[in-house]
Amino acid sequence: MPHNPFSLSGRVALVTGGNGGIGLAMARALARAGADVVVSGRDATKGAEACALLTPFGGRAVFLSSDIARADDCARLPDDAVQALGRLDILVNNAGIVARRRPEELTLAEWNGVITTNLTSAFLCAQSAYPHLQAAGGGKIINIGSMLSLFGSSFGAAYGASKGGLVQLTRSLATAWAADRIQVNAILPGWIETAMGDSARAEVAGLEARVIVRTPAGRWGRPEDLEGVAVFLASRASDFVTGAAIPVDGGFSIAG
Ligand code: NDP
Repeated sequence: MPHNPFSLSGRVALVTGGNGGIGLAMARALARAGADVVVSGRDATKGAEACALLTPFGGRAVFLSSDIARADDCARLPDDAVQALGRLDILVNNAGIVARRRPEELTLAEWNGVITTNLTSAFLCAQSAYPHLQAAGGGKIINIGSMLSLFGSSFGAAYGASKGGLVQLTRSLATAWAADRIQVNAILPGWIETAMGDSARAEVAGLEARVIVRTPAGRWGRPEDLEGVAVFLASRASDFVTGAAIPVDGGFSIAG
């Protein structure tokens, strides 16, 4: 049989926020491609439900509780993943929050909460994953950005700063660790139907229709739209792709 470059058999992946939404869809795709998967988050009930969805693919699935707004949780999470499943090959920095407020109303606590959860956690998790990826002979880091990695928004100062920062962090890590055979890339999802997407639709008047009109594909995204790119960036198929930021947005970011 020819080797399948998309196979993740024998690999271990850690997905932050893998207990729901986009993170769970990506975790499911990695498990289907053959990976053993650690999903992490704060909500253990969602974590158990996620593991139940992953194990039918034949690999191992473990939930590790963490609050990635805490530096000590980020420092230990990759170590705990290796403790649980023996190695680490793939880190997906997916967990994130949003504070939807105009900049003149945004508090310092909200700013710090978003930057810490979305950006600082990705740096800290990558830093503590690095020796494990080196020990594995190479690896993959996937950071989840946003359309606000690219565009401004009057209600997205903190979120946009965190997601724009993630793209630059991606490029810096990719440059620093290429010689270690570690590829670091970002996915920039369009507007996706999850708890976060639903809250945006509820809070921002007219958003639902505006997204549909501007998106050439004519619809909101679904979590499963992120599955293919996650497997690609986690697998040998992307070994010469690093520092990229790939929109998965139905064309939202290229429409005039
Ligand atoms: P959800 O709100 O559905 O999921 C967010 C996940 O992050 C949850 O599983 C949550 O787990 C976890 N999480 C949040 N804060 C923490 C924390 N402090 N510690 C640990 N886990 C945490 O959102 P999405 O699935 O939509 O979002 C996933 C990623 O995709 C985010 O980075 C988001 O910014 C990004 N994104 C989403 C878009 C969309 O339209 N939905 C568009 C572009 C990007 P728990 O509940 O256990 O805390």
